[in-house]
Amino acid sequence: MRECGGCTQCCYLVGVPELEKSDSEQCLHCDEGWGCAVYEKRPQSCQDFNCLWLTEFIPEHLKPDKIKTVVMLVVGQSRGGDRLPIMLFTIDEKAPINAELHSLGVYISHQTAVQFTHGERRQMWQNGKLVAEWNKRTQHFDTDLKDGKFVDVTVTDRIAVEEVVNDSISPAT
Ligand code: SF4
Ligand code: SF4
Repeated sequence: MRECGGCTQCCYLVGVPELEKSDSEQCLHCDEGWGCAVYEKRPQSCQDFNCLWLTEFIPEHLKPDKIKTVVMLVVGQSRGGDRLPIMLFTIDEKAPINAELHSLGVYISHQTAVQFTHGERRQMWQNGKLVAEWNKRTQHFDTDLKDGKFVDVTVTDRIAVEEVVNDSISPAT
C-alpha cells in the first residue's frame, strides 16, 4: 500500500454529498499538500473512497496529483436493477486526459466496465469499446448497445476494492 505523500487530489476532484461538495471543487477541510484536517471525523463517503493508485493497482508514475486524475471503484445500477462494478476515472476538466492512463482504462474495460469523467463529458467503455455517452439533458447514459446492459446506468455507491479487484481484474504493469 502506498502513501498519499502530499497528494490531495481526491479532496478536490471527488464529490462529497455529506458536505454538498461537488466534483472539481476544493473541500473546505482540505489542507492542500498535507491532507484532511478532520480525518478522524471525515464523512462516510470519504471513508469509503478507494484510491486505486494507493492500492498499487495504478502504476507509480501515474500518481493522481501528477496526472490530475483519480481512479476508484463504484457500483452502478442498470435500469433492470443489475448491480455492476465500474472503474471510475475522474479527470480534472482543466487538465488533458493522460494518454497512458486512458489506454490502461480501455485495457481494463475488457475485465470490468470503465467510466471516464472529464468535466461534463462522461463515457462508458466495455470490452475495449466506447458503449455509452452521458446525456446532459436526460442525465443518463445513451447507448444503442443491443444487450442494453449499460442503458441508464447510475452510480450508486463506492465499494471496497477487495469486493471487485480479484483475479478477474488485474492491472497492466
Ligand atoms: S488521490 Fe489517492 S493518493 Fe491522492 S490524496 Fe487521494 S487517496 Fe491519496
Ligand atoms: S472531508 Fe477530508 S477526506 Fe473528505 S474530501 Fe474533505 S479533506 Fe478530503
